[in-house]
Amino acid sequence: MFSSKNQYTPEKSIIRLTSHMEICQRDYPLDWYQSDFAPYAEAYLALPDRKLTTVIEWMRPYIEKAYDHFGEQLLLLSHYYMGGEIVRLVETFGGVIGDSYQLALMAVNHPEKTVIVESAVHFMAESIALLANDNQTVYITNPKAGCTMEMLAKDFMVEPALQELNARYGQDNVLPICYMNTSGRIKAMTGAQGGAVCTSSNVKQIVQWARKQKKKILFIPDKLMGENVAYWLGMNNIAYWPGGSDGARYTLSNQDAATLRSFDAAELVLFSSYCAVHAYYKSNMCEYWHKQGFTVIAHPECPNEVIRQADLAGSTSLIWDQVMFDRAKTGRYAIATENHLVQNLKEQGALRGIQVVNVAEAPSDAEGPGVGCGCATMSRNDPPHLVALLDLLRQGKSVDYNIIRAGDEVNEFTGLRDRLTQQEQRWIAEHAKKALNQMIEITEGRL
Ligand code: SF4
Repeated sequence: MFSSKNQYTPEKSIIRLTSHMEICQRDYPLDWYQSDFAPYAEAYLALPDRKLTTVIEWMRPYIEKAYDHFGEQLLLLSHYYMGGEIVRLVETFGGVIGDSYQLALMAVNHPEKTVIVESAVHFMAESIALLANDNQTVYITNPKAGCTMEMLAKDFMVEPALQELNARYGQDNVLPICYMNTSGRIKAMTGAQGGAVCTSSNVKQIVQWARKQKKKILFIPDKLMGENVAYWLGMNNIAYWPGGSDGARYTLSNQDAATLRSFDAAELVLFSSYCAVHAYYKSNMCEYWHKQGFTVIAHPECPNEVIRQADLAGSTSLIWDQVMFDRAKTGRYAIATENHLVQNLKEQGALRGIQVVNVAEAPSDAEGPGVGCGCATMSRNDPPHLVALLDLLRQGKSVDYNIIRAGDEVNEFTGLRDRLTQQEQRWIAEHAKKALNQMIEITEGRL
């Protein structure tokens, strides 16, 4: 059984509902739904409005029937970045909200839950599945919900980086560290070479551990978080491997002498994909909010100029905790992270007398106040997806399209996947677990 100091505690989430809350998620056209989900989407589109109370009453009979059928076996999960309505709905119906680290431990820490339904992005569901027991099945409500950072660090893009570094420096001298926002294949590649997974909450600890191994560290991705951890730990020698399909084409043999020297000197090689939602922030936005008396908190996926200006940098759960409990005692917070989370914080903060803004709302001379970006792909999970999946599962219908297995390679445009053989799945799960376990051992102070 895994344990964690960061484990989910219900009192930390405390979403409060008020009847006037509006569903903020936009409706999708019917042809965006898999065919067996379309009738549920049609019923949803026919509702008179998107008020929370209307949507909850529409969902309630489906979800109650699913709970009556599955009882204690059913676990609903969602990430803080999901549109506010799903977060509220999942919690209303007894589910759990968490960040990617907290979610990853859910199956393994709750062996009685055999039907696990996740409303978030694909890598998060796969991380739960990698640690799950054989009798637990993990479903995602919409397989088209992918993480764009992960999509720019697919295994065929990253593999050349690891192979080329191994060839030039020797496999024993290269240590991969991968962010939680990667596929099971990348986590397995990392585990097979002795590396560890990290999250935004433990990245400093994991890289500190990696430095003690005295090897060249390949950090897969996030380029910006890698730059931030280098700044925190005083690591000056950094080299960059291009992200996305450029990464698949890049070779050391084609580089000039200066580039090769930078790789030879580098303690940290950053695989350069990043999250556009977080890359958007600028230091002058933080300066503006400081002048207004706000405490500025930024997620470590933000650019380094923002991290240098912020009062605090940390994971989603840290941000949630800081604001909900007004840890800085200022009662005013400017947050640089995904906008659905900021909207949830605004709403929940207002109920507690705490003012929250998105750092991106700072006025710019040219365009007036800005707006933050939401994670558009994660929001592809909406109320009809959750209702349809639960109702079809209850009826015993096949929903293979939504089942998550270790090593699945998903096409985020169609939701279809290449599924590995069972033997290959076992290899992925075994080695990815090594990298995840390594992370847990380091985080818990046992390594
Ligand atoms: S906010 Fe960015 S990093 Fe997070 S899941 Fe969405 S695309 Fe991925």
